[in-house]
Amino acid sequence: MSGVYVVLEDRNGRIGRISWEAVAAANLLAAQSGDKATAIVIGAQTEALASEAGTKGVAKVVRIEHPLLAQYTSDGYTTALQQFIAAESPDYLVFPHTYQVRDYAPALAARLGRVLIGDVTAITDGPVFIRSLMQGRLSGSYRPSGAAPSFISVQSGAFRAGEAQSSGAAIAVFTPAIEAAQIRTKPGEPFRGTAQAVDLGSAPLIVAVGRGIKEADNLPLVQDLASALGAELAASRPICDNGWLPIERQVGSSGQTVAPKLYLAVGISGAIQHLVGMKGSQCIVAINKDAEAPIFEVADYGIVGDLFEVVPALTEAIKTARQ
Ligand code: FAD
Repeated sequence: MSGVYVVLEDRNGRIGRISWEAVAAANLLAAQSGDKATAIVIGAQTEALASEAGTKGVAKVVRIEHPLLAQYTSDGYTTALQQFIAAESPDYLVFPHTYQVRDYAPALAARLGRVLIGDVTAITDGPVFIRSLMQGRLSGSYRPSGAAPSFISVQSGAFRAGEAQSSGAAIAVFTPAIEAAQIRTKPGEPFRGTAQAVDLGSAPLIVAVGRGIKEADNLPLVQDLASALGAELAASRPICDNGWLPIERQVGSSGQTVAPKLYLAVGISGAIQHLVGMKGSQCIVAINKDAEAPIFEVADYGIVGDLFEVVPALTEAIKTARQ
């Protein structure tokens, strides 16, 4: 294995957290042959993105630039990457599993007759790629066969993004030949999941509440804890289904995927659909009165106790410590 490339996503002139997680995954893959990944940024003017990418522990950064790539289109990206692949013969292309990637990466893989393994959560020796099936109830192992390149997209929160480094990587430019007629769609406004007042995906601290809170009137208890910590409030699905908190605060397979520094789960059992949305958190603390609750299997620290006693005491202790 020689060439592992990771395609970073431009989000309004910045590179988002999930792209840095894809870099971590690509470096893990490249390390199997003692290598580092090469980052790819795509657009009409990618100098700033490339400089940012160069500080993230990659061997090199390639700017794929063309005026017709100023706005994302599936045709533009597919055409540009197809030409890049023909020129460089990479072994793997790693992507963040975003809406945009879900739009064009399958088209690229199909155009080249290659494999796309989507929503990967782990990479083991071989390399073997792990992904969840049936809402996280099963996990499958995949080893790509056939000619290179193979395409891999990685799930948000599954890999830990590395810190920026002071020295930047070398930067190269690749200019694809794209004709306006090849772009069959006219881009509109980028899709936004909901008009979100909160971006849980980039919150460093999250306090999440589950059905253990019993009723909506008790929510201020956890809201106080979140405020004392300076954390965002999140919830398990039943809380949002009941309309106690808005859906944008739901974490899990049908909600948001988060990877904060601290995830404090209060009265949450740890159903698999919840775990897939938060297991990438750096430190998980769980408060639950049931010592056998599955959330304790992923928790770094656990408090077995009644949340109505533990949470007010914790809030007070945090307020005192912060004075
Ligand atoms: P429960 O499972 O009822 O757990 C409540 C916990 O609180 C228990 O462990 C209990 O011991 C504890 N508790 C009770 N009282 C106290 C107390 N006084 N002090 C301390 N602890 C206490 N769920 C999600 O969260 N996100 C999703 O995105 C999601 N998507 C789903 C998609 C599908 C297709 C399906 C089928 C389900 C999905 N679910 C999702 C639902 C999921 O299966 C669980 O039902 C849900 O996560 C349970 O939420 P909970 O942990 O808050 O509640």
